[in-house]
Amino acid sequence: MRSVAFARRCPAISFAAITAAALLAGCATHPSTPPANTAASPASVAAASQDAAFQRHVEAVLEEMWAEFPEYATRVGNYRHADRMTVPDAARRQRSVDFYNRQLDALAKFDPAALNASNRVDLVLMKNRFESSRWQITTFKSWQWQPSSYNVGSDFGVLINTEFAPLETRLRHVIARLEKVPAYYAAAKAAVDTPTLEHTQLALIQNRGALRIFGEDLEKKVAGSSLDAKEKALFTERNAAAKAAVNGYIDFLSSLEAKLKQGGARSFRIGKDLYAQKFAYDIQSSFTVEQLHQRALQEKAALHDAMEKLARQLWPKWMAGKPMPADRLDMIRAVLDELSKRHTKREAFVETIRAQIPALEKFVREKDLVDQDPTRPLVVRETPPYMRGGGAGASISAPGPFDPTANTYYNVTPLDHFTDAQAASFLREYNDWTLQILNIHEAIPGHYTQLMHANKSKSLVKSLFGNGAMIEGWAVFSEKVMLDAGYDNGSPEIWISWMKWNLRSVMNTILDIEIQTMNLQREDALRYMIREAFQQETEATEKWRRATFSQVQLTSYFAGYAEITALRDELKAKQGDKFSVKGFNNRFLSYGNAPVRFIAELMRAS
Ligand code: ZN
Repeated sequence: MRSVAFARRCPAISFAAITAAALLAGCATHPSTPPANTAASPASVAAASQDAAFQRHVEAVLEEMWAEFPEYATRVGNYRHADRMTVPDAARRQRSVDFYNRQLDALAKFDPAALNASNRVDLVLMKNRFESSRWQITTFKSWQWQPSSYNVGSDFGVLINTEFAPLETRLRHVIARLEKVPAYYAAAKAAVDTPTLEHTQLALIQNRGALRIFGEDLEKKVAGSSLDAKEKALFTERNAAAKAAVNGYIDFLSSLEAKLKQGGARSFRIGKDLYAQKFAYDIQSSFTVEQLHQRALQEKAALHDAMEKLARQLWPKWMAGKPMPADRLDMIRAVLDELSKRHTKREAFVETIRAQIPALEKFVREKDLVDQDPTRPLVVRETPPYMRGGGAGASISAPGPFDPTANTYYNVTPLDHFTDAQAASFLREYNDWTLQILNIHEAIPGHYTQLMHANKSKSLVKSLFGNGAMIEGWAVFSEKVMLDAGYDNGSPEIWISWMKWNLRSVMNTILDIEIQTMNLQREDALRYMIREAFQQETEATEKWRRATFSQVQLTSYFAGYAEITALRDELKAKQGDKFSVKGFNNRFLSYGNAPVRFIAELMRAS
């Protein structure tokens, strides 16, 4: 079901938000203003010069990075090298490792203690990013066992569909890059060794999809453009060769798939050691994997207890006259099913969301929960057609540096493309209560509010290398902030709906850890999701599939949420009467997209 992707994965959010933040920050020439270094003592002058030196270094590194990784640059909105394509061969991997080694040596020369807080976070983020990227190549080696690492489709898609330059310029970039596609797939075939069956099948699906990029639409665009005859001929020749190369990879994958089905495939489960390492790089948590797993199990038990109480309380109102099941999970499910019947009409979906945003702003203001910026309102709009990924979706689009006064948009895709059955199922999932939680998560005071605060610091490093667990963790944490403040009059309906919602991120964490490191089997995973987390079968089977492709990412929501909650509880206990919700939230968000662990260090020290 689309609904899974719609809210909890926030596919557009996590990428678009970071991209937009990167765009907002523009070129890396925004020196941060360190409050600690305003006095003109000799020590602070020295510190200020350290900070200035660090800023200059960051600018130089990023310049080098754009040139070194043109695809990455294009993906995050820097189009200066958009005409270049890199070939993922052994020489390229070595070159990347050399780059990371060089950058890590250079960063080691900076003393974190001599830098202001913002720069110290940037230093940590850069170090982590380069170490992690090096580890991906030298230790994790997904380039070897994940054939789905190779796909040229989306990078061409960006050039064709993003109007960052006139069409002819972009088409020339396309023609220049097309030349390398055969070499790209030759390198891919040479690199793939003992892959998993799952990533081989994923690569097949995705590369078949990529073929569409080089199809009729592009041919028509070129034919209708003002490129000259020679350029058009070159396009035709290279496009044909590119298609042949993608097809060649598809053939290669098909025979690989047939062979792997007979045996010899690598397991998609990465095991305890690699998992712990990947968790350290990706989440940068203060919890170990084992601690997070235990915490998630405790949370699941606590949520079941709380949901049982609420379901008993709600039974007479919603289930009057019906026999109460003896099994508490069955009883909770019955109440949730009944509540899900209350929802908006499909044709009113976008309007319903639009109407909720001012109510959320008002509640946050009246309850004094976190700073908002009334001069930069959030505009709800229907997702523009070029951004619709085929399903329902919600995303935040923030303005870029070329139009800094532009609106921030909350894109909501109308449900017109759904069949009646799909729309009914979707609307039950986003019923009168969960739709509000979705808006809190995506918009206010979730992702949109967090992005607004993060953009104040204008650190390109924090935008580019920002911590996903912090970003998703905040969005989840903000839901709880609203409910704790009495949102929806503290109704048992909103609480039990939130708990079901929250249970999904808790369960994602348990599943990811147990699947990847404890050999959890498919049928047990499905039972966890369907019986214990009240999910639909389609949602659960899709989640299983996703859990075989990715590792660690599924833990990021709960990991971030758990860490922010732990930090809030710690500071609340320490500050007693002086603790303020708004003070904590504003302060927490002031450090940009930094890992919660580092924000915690900075907040404890202040
Ligand atoms: Zn999110």
